[in-house]
Amino acid sequence: MYPRLEINLKKLEHNTRLIRQMCERHNVKIWGVTKCFCANPMAAMAMLKGGADMLADSRIENLKKLKDIPCKKVLLRIPMHCEVNDVVLYSDYSQNSELSTLKLLGEAAQKIGKIHNVIIMLDLGDLREGVWPDNIDEFVGEAVKIKGIEIKGFGVNLTCYGGVIPDEINLSKLVEISKDMGEKYNLDVEIISGGNSSSLYLLKESRLPKGINNLRVGEAILLGRETAFGERLDGLYDDAFVLKAQIVELKEKPSVPIGNIGMDAFGGKPVFEDKGMMKRAIAAMGRQDIDINLIRPFDDDIKLIGASSDHTILDITNSKKNYKVGDAVEFYLDYGGLLKAATSEYVHKILI
Ligand SMILES: *Cc1c(COP(=O)(O)O)cnc(C)c1O
Repeated sequence: MYPRLEINLKKLEHNTRLIRQMCERHNVKIWGVTKCFCANPMAAMAMLKGGADMLADSRIENLKKLKDIPCKKVLLRIPMHCEVNDVVLYSDYSQNSELSTLKLLGEAAQKIGKIHNVIIMLDLGDLREGVWPDNIDEFVGEAVKIKGIEIKGFGVNLTCYGGVIPDEINLSKLVEISKDMGEKYNLDVEIISGGNSSSLYLLKESRLPKGINNLRVGEAILLGRETAFGERLDGLYDDAFVLKAQIVELKEKPSVPIGNIGMDAFGGKPVFEDKGMMKRAIAAMGRQDIDINLIRPFDDDIKLIGASSDHTILDITNSKKNYKVGDAVEFYLDYGGLLKAATSEYVHKILI
């Protein structure tokens, strides 16, 4: 069935293995981040086979899907008050920045006779989640009094909201604060988590500050590139995930619509360049499944010229391939494109 998202498990495993090897040389462990493929258990298993130390996801619904896989799991998004019971049940660690949430997690953990492990997030400038460094001492001082939880480390998230690039300055600060807090409050600081795929470039250049012993890696494993500068990573596949859509109409038509131009299906006023007659294909896939700005045809000679809810229009005039109705067109995906395809219930997920 089409449209389909093909997930190549061998390529996923291979990509994980190469990143793990890169990290191992610097005593860094990786958490395989599964949110971008909605935590498909087989794909998650491929990450574990490739050497991911634990599995991590931002959604507790996704971690539930992984409950039968025997490995440690981490909730990446700071938990909602309403989900604490599930958090202590389905995750071994969670990332946190609010004392009120830690209290609820502690109570929920005690109810089921568990101790819940927490990573305290620091905001080092990206302005998404995290305790501001000036307040960390007071925060940890209060957090250590909470029963039912144990502080197991510190982490930072960068290059997400503010686009701040990890460097020696911000990551050294993370290490320093983690060590200070560990000593002052006698903590077992097992994890110092220096960010996501955007920190990998520091590893490659051997500039990751000593003490950082964990990275949470999604995109680099999935798409084969680091995310501080968008560079391809040597030896990794960029096509572990491929989107395929089927052609349902193929005709020669003009490049400019005929009649008075009003609004398109989404309220925009379209503009057209007259390129004469065009060979146009319609693929049965639309904005309910993908964002055409975040996918790229394998065939460089195909142009994506528009999409409505259920149709994508392709200009195939210059393609060397002789497409027919019924053929599938293949696309690479960006991070956002993958997220959209993976979360659309209309896109069939095929493991190969
Ligand atoms: C999604 C996410 C990651 C993984 O980011 P990538 O850029 O895909 O490597 C890491 N940490 C947190 C908190 C996340 O939400």
